[in-house]
Amino acid sequence: MARVALVTGGTRGIGAAISKGLKAAGYKVAASYAGNDAAAEKFKAETGIPVYKWDVASFDACAEGVKKVEAELGPVDILVNNAGITRDTAFHKMTLQQWNEVINTNLGSLFNMTRQVIEGMRARKFGRIISISSINGQKGQFGQVNYSAAKAGDIGFTKALALENAKGGITVNVIAPGYINTEMVQAVPKDVLEKNVIPQIPVNRLGEPEEIARAVVFLAADDAGFITGSTLTINGGQYHA
Ligand code: NDP
Repeated sequence: MARVALVTGGTRGIGAAISKGLKAAGYKVAASYAGNDAAAEKFKAETGIPVYKWDVASFDACAEGVKKVEAELGPVDILVNNAGITRDTAFHKMTLQQWNEVINTNLGSLFNMTRQVIEGMRARKFGRIISISSINGQKGQFGQVNYSAAKAGDIGFTKALALENAKGGITVNVIAPGYINTEMVQAVPKDVLEKNVIPQIPVNRLGEPEEIARAVVFLAADDAGFITGSTLTINGGQYHA
């Protein structure tokens, strides 16, 4: 029986590449998203992967969403906490709303989602929790106090949860990508990317979503069971935590 993988924010960007990579590796995949129905429907038509809409910042919505996925595909064996947003601004201008939205979506979601599946994984003695952090959670970034705090939190979450579940066949790992060529990065002005961002990347280019997906497929495998609590840095050599 194919294992079931659920990818949050799995319909666009890095998440879409992860969903497709897991499907190609033989998993039964579900992709969640927040509200961009057009992108989700296009993704579903192109890939045949079922899509589910809910807000990962809401615990109750996650409970309902996961219940629906499990009723349709079976118990979730692999959870990829990928959904994320930015609300960039200097801290001295940051609103409570910008803080809360980023913390709840990028960090709160790890509690909201993982809490729904962890008991089942513990009972079945197998699970993979893979979360997508960021280089900016490792090193900090101007204009991203909220995002850097949330993404650093993803790493602490992973280390602690890995310890609690290490004996039970469940691994918990986090990937910290550098700058990856998605809409999130395309929102950065082109001249800023060319003058300020790419020159800081030793391989001299943005990463591609498939280069993150490749690592997720690696960590999801049954024979990756000795890797837990790890932070896998994938950033073209830009920063080593
Ligand atoms: P995109 O903006 O391209 O895609 C984000 C995905 O997450 C979409 O599917 C979106 O749904 C979904 N999403 C956003 N908010 C929510 C929510 N509240 N509930 C459910 N789903 C939600 O992002 P990327 O692919 O660029 O980023 C993916 C992850 O990688 C994020 O966690 C990001 O922080 C991280 N990352 C990205 C980097 C990059 O360079 N791109 C670098 C380092 C980390 P919808 O389509 O409905 O909006």
